Amino acid sequence: MKTDIIVIGGGVVGSAIAYFLSKDKPRDLSVTVIEKDPTYQIGSTARSAGGIRQQFSTPENIRISQFATDFLRNISQHLSVDGDPVDVSFTEGGYLFLAQDHQIPVLYNNHQIQSSESVNVQLLDPDDLSRAFPWMNVTDLAGGSMGQDGEGWLDAYGLNQAFRKKAISQGVKYLSDEAVGLTKEKSRVTGINLKASGHLACTSLINAAGARANQVANWAGIDLAVRPRKRFVYSFSCRTPIENCPLTIDPSGVYFRPEGHQFITGCSPTADKDPDCLDFEIDYSWFEEHIWPVLANRVPAFEAIKMENAWAGHYAYNLLDQNAVLGPHPEITNFFFANGFSGHGLQQAPAVGRALSELILEGNYQTLDLSRFSFERMIRNSPLAEINVV
Ligand SMILES: Cc1cc2nc3c(=O)[nH]c(=O)nc-3n(C[C@H](O)[C@H](O)[C@H](O)COP(=O)(O)OP(=O)(O)OC[C@H]3O[C@@H](n4cnc5c(N)ncnc54)[C@H](O)[C@@H]3O)c2cc1C
Repeated sequence: MKTDIIVIGGGVVGSAIAYFLSKDKPRDLSVTVIEKDPTYQIGSTARSAGGIRQQFSTPENIRISQFATDFLRNISQHLSVDGDPVDVSFTEGGYLFLAQDHQIPVLYNNHQIQSSESVNVQLLDPDDLSRAFPWMNVTDLAGGSMGQDGEGWLDAYGLNQAFRKKAISQGVKYLSDEAVGLTKEKSRVTGINLKASGHLACTSLINAAGARANQVANWAGIDLAVRPRKRFVYSFSCRTPIENCPLTIDPSGVYFRPEGHQFITGCSPTADKDPDCLDFEIDYSWFEEHIWPVLANRVPAFEAIKMENAWAGHYAYNLLDQNAVLGPHPEITNFFFANGFSGHGLQQAPAVGRALSELILEGNYQTLDLSRFSFERMIRNSPLAEINVV
């Protein structure tokens, strides 16, 4: 069996790449996506919090999200199949970063970068916060920054499936199988081995295996500093109405946002309590002991909430800088990477899909220059630090 391009992983990133590769592709180019999970529920995408924000500290990350916002606003134009409208419940509910005194310099510095990238973000003092969000306790806050448009949340699984369906309509083949190894000749990948279907030869291979990216890299003798790290999302209900609630990030790192009539919340652990992990076991005490007290302090009405549900998912955590790794390996140049997105890969999928297709079809970036995310920086141990990591 032979195909031109293999994408390992049919999550939102692999499917976005497949969509863009097949959108304006030469007629004879064949693209095959290998996805082992027929439910699309186990990967990070379906387990994400669905957020999109422009409030980053790296200009490239801001531009990536700006493209995503534009893409989502016009999603039916891009991803409709046979004229059926596409709805991923994109809700521009805003992101609100809250800060205490010691966090104000970073907030202001980020605001400068964001303003220079034409992001519509407003700095708020505690009085502004009280007026805009009367349900919030601001006594321990020094300020906040609130995106005025283009930020919010969406149905992550829905976006994954919309990319997938459109890619299939454009001729991409999805193979339900597990990649278990790859074949190489000198410094080129020649194909992959599949658990059920045997060998599939290719001209280019793309690693979009999410939290399992390093496993795929290892098959070519490459160590990719991306590890699976477990994160929990808890949903809860609150009897008191909380009007006009954005995705709010407390100074402690605990975030919450509305989800229908309920809310979802979560928080990344400290580095010393964040082992590599691929299981789905849920730690309910993390909610009781760490998250709930923060919620109750920030929103007094959250004193009386009821936890409704919880799930676990995995970040593909870039140990170097929590940023994406994009593009070819410097020595195995037909082996491409789209990995390490940590907590912001959902919103990066549209721009990353376009960027990878440009790299593969044109040989270089045509729209956004994402070369600072290159694999070389991982080898040089030269982080592209993103301060606003959640
Ligand atoms: C709790 C949580 C909250 C998050 N919140 C946000 C958020 O608010 N905003 C945001 O932008 N991002 C968020 N993220 C991050 C985001 O979900 C991910 O960055 C994004 O979904 C990555 O997509 P992906 O396609 O790379 O990975 P995945 O969705 O994991 O897809 C990878 C796919 O590869 C398949 N695969 C792996 N190995 C093989 C193999 N050998 N053979 C065949 N198939 C294979 C897997 O089955 C999987 O389906 C969150 C993540 C988590 C866990």
